[in-house]
Amino acid sequence: MTIFQAPKGTYDLIPPDSAKYLAVREAIAAPLRNSGYGYVETPGFENVELFARGVGESTDIVTKEMYAFETKGGDRLALRPEGTASVLRAALEANLHKSGNLPVKLWYSGSYYRYERPQKGRYRHFSQVGAEAIGAEDPALDTELIVLADQAYRSLGLSGFRILLNSLGDRECRPVYREALQGFLRGLDLDEDTRRRVDINPLRVLDDKRESVRKQLVGAPLLRDHLCDACKAYHEEVRELLTAASVPFEDDERLVRGLDYYTRTTFEFVHDGLGSQSAVGGGGRYDGLSEMIGGPALPSVGWALGVDRTVLALEAEGIALELPASTSVFAVPLGEEARRALFAVVTGLRRAGVAADFSYGGKGLKGAMKSANRSGARYALVAGERDLADGVLQLKDMESGEQAPVALDSAVEEIRARLA
Ligand code: ATP
Ligand code: MG
Repeated sequence: MTIFQAPKGTYDLIPPDSAKYLAVREAIAAPLRNSGYGYVETPGFENVELFARGVGESTDIVTKEMYAFETKGGDRLALRPEGTASVLRAALEANLHKSGNLPVKLWYSGSYYRYERPQKGRYRHFSQVGAEAIGAEDPALDTELIVLADQAYRSLGLSGFRILLNSLGDRECRPVYREALQGFLRGLDLDEDTRRRVDINPLRVLDDKRESVRKQLVGAPLLRDHLCDACKAYHEEVRELLTAASVPFEDDERLVRGLDYYTRTTFEFVHDGLGSQSAVGGGGRYDGLSEMIGGPALPSVGWALGVDRTVLALEAEGIALELPASTSVFAVPLGEEARRALFAVVTGLRRAGVAADFSYGGKGLKGAMKSANRSGARYALVAGERDLADGVLQLKDMESGEQAPVALDSAVEEIRARLA
């Protein structure tokens, strides 16, 4: 018989750890919900061209990481490697940008797929929560997003992260810089792949993590020195608003991002406890993306935070999230008659909003109490024939060990009152 395993580069979320993932998604979403962002959900796959054109032909994502396939009907699709292109596509398709209410602010949460070399913090299936603000050019909007991500991480108790900030310029100043950079890079000793990258997307070369490349990049021209006045003023405003919001950041003139569509404000959240997969999230402004995928000019900004790496960051900082107990009351029936009576009480408790569970499988008292212990329940609710004859159930406080009878008729109300 075949024993199946999760595919390479993937892993399952299993209780109790899976609760952390839900809590992280919730913590990232909460500040967004509270700031005018509406929930959007798009398909797990899209027309492959959406990513090839949107994310950029020269990116790692498109050249080697994409799960692309042809359907039986002959459509060329790809599992989504990122969220922004899909969300913008959906907003355009639904004409949200014509609502007269810009920016359109959306948030999302889901699975993403990249054919990467698996290692700690880098998987082929991973999870992101993201936010996009579509159709407005306003430094306060860029700042809002950075502030909300900062708030999300802090609400989880994280403190070991840093915000790296840069501006990538716009269609005025970036081409001039690009040429200057290409001139510099063409004078270096680089392998064939990297030389090709110099032609297609030279900014990406600045992001090369190999030491052999890094040491040659000392003295490379910096975009900072080529920014046009408008980009400079915009960037300065973002920096000032962040400072006013008491969100510390570091200027990183070498920060570029893996995707081709970014312009102006670019940022990354890095966590120092994660080793080489240190980016827990990233984003920036993408003023040209809408036009690249066939839409009107819609200057926009967004980010995506990695849920997997955020969980790793929590572990690195030794943070145990305070997760609500999944079970408050665990019912332990002794005998057939008690089983029916307690099952009804458990149903009543659940309908009244109390988290309750039941000992299934006809376990004896010892085994059932073990289950009650494992469930983390505050109370065990025990009943045998004699209790039922007296019209009571025994409520056992799992912390103190104290036990007291509660009337069967009013058990639900009484237990609810005690838990409140
Ligand atoms: P990296 O430089 O680490 O490859 P990236 O620039 O490709 O990151 P983005 O596309 O900006 O990452 O995605 C945003 C976030 O999603 C990242 O900061 C990271 O936390 C997470 N992420 C990206 N790729 C993966 C992956 N393969 N496995 C787990 N998390 C990932
Ligand atoms: Mg990557």
